[in-house]
Amino acid sequence: MKVYLDNNATTIVDPYVFDEMEPFFVQKYGNPNSLHYVASETHVPLKNAMEKIYAGIHAPKEDSVVITSCATESNNWVLKSIYLEYIITGRKNHIIISEVEHPSIISAARHLEKLGCKVTYLPINHEGIVEAQTVRDYITDKTALVSIMWANNETGAIFPVQEIGDICAEKGVLFHTDAVQAIGKIPVDVQSFNVDYLTMSAHKFHGPKGVGALYMKKGKELTPLLHGGSQMGGYRSGTLNVAGIVGMGKAMEQAVDALDFEMSEIRELRDEFEDELLKIEDTFVVTPREKRTSNTILISFRGIEGESMLWDLNRSAIAASTGSACASEDLESNPVMEAIGAEADLAHTAIRFSLSRYTTKEELDFTLAVVKEAVERLRGISSSYAYAPEGHDSQL
Ligand code: PLP
Repeated sequence: MKVYLDNNATTIVDPYVFDEMEPFFVQKYGNPNSLHYVASETHVPLKNAMEKIYAGIHAPKEDSVVITSCATESNNWVLKSIYLEYIITGRKNHIIISEVEHPSIISAARHLEKLGCKVTYLPINHEGIVEAQTVRDYITDKTALVSIMWANNETGAIFPVQEIGDICAEKGVLFHTDAVQAIGKIPVDVQSFNVDYLTMSAHKFHGPKGVGALYMKKGKELTPLLHGGSQMGGYRSGTLNVAGIVGMGKAMEQAVDALDFEMSEIRELRDEFEDELLKIEDTFVVTPREKRTSNTILISFRGIEGESMLWDLNRSAIAASTGSACASEDLESNPVMEAIGAEADLAHTAIRFSLSRYTTKEELDFTLAVVKEAVERLRGISSSYAYAPEGHDSQL
């Protein structure tokens, strides 16, 4: 059995999405901006796809949704345009993000810091959540932007974007949210709260890779970073990724249709799986379930390096994640665990299981059995783990 539990990294493309995209490679391959029938064949499908994306986030027609190449681009666009419009011009000098934003926000912010922008990296609380009051505490009259993600990719923690949006509106500060891990997992309605910019990425909700979007509220449109032709209303030049956009539209429609299922059945599967995992001695989950997206578990197994656990899982064809920057050869700790201030030996032990609407109970039962075996094996050879006497109750 092959088990894929790394859906916060990327998801399988929904077969209906794939079917919808297929004609746009070999048959309807026109450049939408050309003036002939091959181009015209793309116009209606593009329009329909854009309508589905607007509908999926309840964006009114007058607001803008600009297709990008990925969420990384959307996030960079927001920060860098704010820098160009507000910071470099001297109108403001400060942006606020959290310590647990995706690297596409954190790295962009660090870059802007080198260019003279003041950046505040907000802490999270013991549940892994950025509190709205913390945002209020750090806003000054020089703050141009607050960028706080909606749901965290590691823990699934849902951040209080409603309250943060209200605070930003009250203080006259622009608010961006990275909603990459929210779409398809919780209802997303840009009209239900104060938000100026919102980032999405199709491959996180069973769409294709290489296509994302940035929502911008009317009157809050950003300076383009890619100048060229007049595509996307001039906000982002470059020949349109027709198949990608069509795929993103279909994936959004499917995600909205499947939302109830994700929030009930998948949550139930996740909870049962988590209950069983937590029966293993010395295991810890940071964010309470009711404050998380329905598909995610970040769990620490004391005494076991995350990478060692991954190795054992991988040998049984189970794909999960440690959440750390695995590009490096060093064993790195999970960034959220670090931000919470977990003891060093725990920060290295986090494993992320992220489910999708394709995950089955059989897959989770199999994974549980493999995890239990791996825990026995790895703790048996661990120099840092000593089995505690019965009744011992470890604290995070
Ligand atoms: N933001 C969050 C919260 C993510 O989880 C990810 C992907 O892991 C990204 C942004 C980047 O997405 P993309 O791969 O589309 O650039």
